[in-house]
Amino acid sequence: MTNLIKKRGLIIAIIVTLFTLLILLNVYFSNSVTVKISQLNVRSGPGVNYSLKGTVKRGTHLQVTAKKNNWLKVVANHKQTGWVASWLVDKTTIGHHSKLAETTIVLDPGHGGDDTGALSNTQKYEKKYTLQIAKRVAQQLRSQGARVILTRSTDKTTSLVSRPALAEKVHADAFISFHLDSSDVANSASGVTSYYYHDGASKRLATNINNQLRSLPLPNRGVQFGDFLVIRNNTVPAVLLETGYINSNSNFKRIKSIKYQNQIAQDVVTGLNNYF
Ligand SMILES: [Zn+2]
Repeated sequence: MTNLIKKRGLIIAIIVTLFTLLILLNVYFSNSVTVKISQLNVRSGPGVNYSLKGTVKRGTHLQVTAKKNNWLKVVANHKQTGWVASWLVDKTTIGHHSKLAETTIVLDPGHGGDDTGALSNTQKYEKKYTLQIAKRVAQQLRSQGARVILTRSTDKTTSLVSRPALAEKVHADAFISFHLDSSDVANSASGVTSYYYHDGASKRLATNINNQLRSLPLPNRGVQFGDFLVIRNNTVPAVLLETGYINSNSNFKRIKSIKYQNQIAQDVVTGLNNYF
């Protein structure tokens, strides 16, 4: 009888121990991620602007202890602690690994839906081309690993105030609004302008991007101060790009071409890279 009780006690003890072990293992692995890209930066805080503490290689297991602004606080190799960009942990490859990979960029295709924007001489609306251009920029930025969020990805009405609000919400490192200019008289103006509202980071960002946009086949009208809501009411570095006059026949020929749109995308990516 006593032997039976002892045996029973032993079995219960073993079962309890096994369950505890299972739960512990589950907790351990559910909060664990593995680095799949060749090298991942570890920073002192949740953002690209925090100092670099080191790097971890492909195959390293990271224990996740906290999350903030889409960054993960991790323990690597049971000793090294720091922060990594969560979206890079999910990636298996990155085309060209730059600091840009650790950034969150909000792209804002101007207008949309009921708000058509300016009209070309061939009755085509600005809203269509701002979306095409922003999507090409998004594609190139994503290929470099960046986390890209668009204020709209379809032809839908999007309020002005919601655009900078989104940039703040996702803790973006930069906000870029895409527009096309229009002059009072058709075919009377031509060129590309980069606008900023806030001095400092925004102006620096506008300058870096505009330096690259000089490679475009349209005249460059420079970096200018512009009082636009989406860059004025913005808490992150913000610029507004006018990449040609939609009611200029020569400009519009470029605006609607894939080649020109891809050139803008490449210039914006290089400009952002230089800025960071
Ligand atoms: Zn516009």
